[in-house]
Amino acid sequence: MTIIKNVNMLGVKLSNITLTDGANTVIDAEGRIAFPSFFDMHIHLENALSLRETGENDSGTLNEAVERWAKIRDSLSVEELKNRIKKALILEIFNGVTHVRNHADTCSKNINSVKASLEVKEEMKDFVDIQVVAFPEQGIFNCNEDEFKRAVEISDIIGGKPDGEDNEDLGKKHLELISSLSLKLNKSIDSHIDQGDEPTRFSEYLLGLRNGHIALSHLTSIHSDNDEYVSRLIRLIKKRNASVISSPLTTVFLNGRFDKYPKRRGLTRIKQLLSEGVNVALGHDDFQNPFFPFGFGDIIQALWLAVLMEQANLKDAEAWIDLITRNAEIEWTLSTSFKPSEDIVILDAKSLREQLSTLSPRFMVIRKGKIIAYSNRSGEVLLNDSKINPYDLIA
Ligand SMILES: [Zn+2]
Repeated sequence: MTIIKNVNMLGVKLSNITLTDGANTVIDAEGRIAFPSFFDMHIHLENALSLRETGENDSGTLNEAVERWAKIRDSLSVEELKNRIKKALILEIFNGVTHVRNHADTCSKNINSVKASLEVKEEMKDFVDIQVVAFPEQGIFNCNEDEFKRAVEISDIIGGKPDGEDNEDLGKKHLELISSLSLKLNKSIDSHIDQGDEPTRFSEYLLGLRNGHIALSHLTSIHSDNDEYVSRLIRLIKKRNASVISSPLTTVFLNGRFDKYPKRRGLTRIKQLLSEGVNVALGHDDFQNPFFPFGFGDIIQALWLAVLMEQANLKDAEAWIDLITRNAEIEWTLSTSFKPSEDIVILDAKSLREQLSTLSPRFMVIRKGKIIAYSNRSGEVLLNDSKINPYDLIA
């Protein structure tokens, strides 16, 4: 067996983790902090790591990102899409994520993105839990409506993107269609509800329709909407027990592109939503692609940016680990009947403050009683005759 001793579970209690893995090893975690492993509640796996093929997004806008992805999308076979998805998942796993909600593009040729996601979900089930969302990147009516319906039938969750349609009326029809499919198939909805800077009324429209459980992805426009309206919308979100899923890395990169100064920030009102009792979770959304050219599949980077952009104080920042653990799990179980497995991530840090300062890779990821990823931060500064580990200076 492997014994990992001195693990600081949830930052409140030192304990040992015993793995019945046939080994005979003792590892000292030396008080490193540990949590239930992370959830990435909004990601597009099939187009992660595609920047070399798509080229850079020169304007930095969402439109250009979609166009660049759409240009290469249809040339990819299911096998090629699966390879991309698996590579992206390896990075997510390395960073302590073992639960992923993947939005698979239903506009891809023959809904290949959805098929590839579902196959990888099965093939990688020993390493990661995946919820597959059927997601119409360019709208339902700009692509093939029948293919979208077919994708929804085989997926776990119904996606949406009303602002992918050509106008507001079509956007509303789009929401009516996904709501009727939700009732017919008894599936929940996670819609990219809006992701620009201009206020929209798509959230209240969807929340006012008859449908199953709802998650509102992005909801960036309320950042620039008026307080009275937002207060009314938040009441409606709570009444429907809907969740909000924010992806700060991508939306902060894509938004504000049409503003001079002052520039809007491209992030939903995380702090206000939480303080008013809304369930908020986070996603990475994109990495190394035209939607977000940086990133390493590390959901801690998304948390770090949310903390900075929303000016969370230190106490809040530490509680916000819930956005990638507890709150995310609540949304996961509200939306599908299959439960996420109970895995553990040990951070390479003795506090969350330290983790958010160094952004260092995870010390260890344990799934179903096995170590599936590990790392350690090493390095020294050579100063005269001394060797100094810089991490020791801030611990
Ligand atoms: Zn997305």
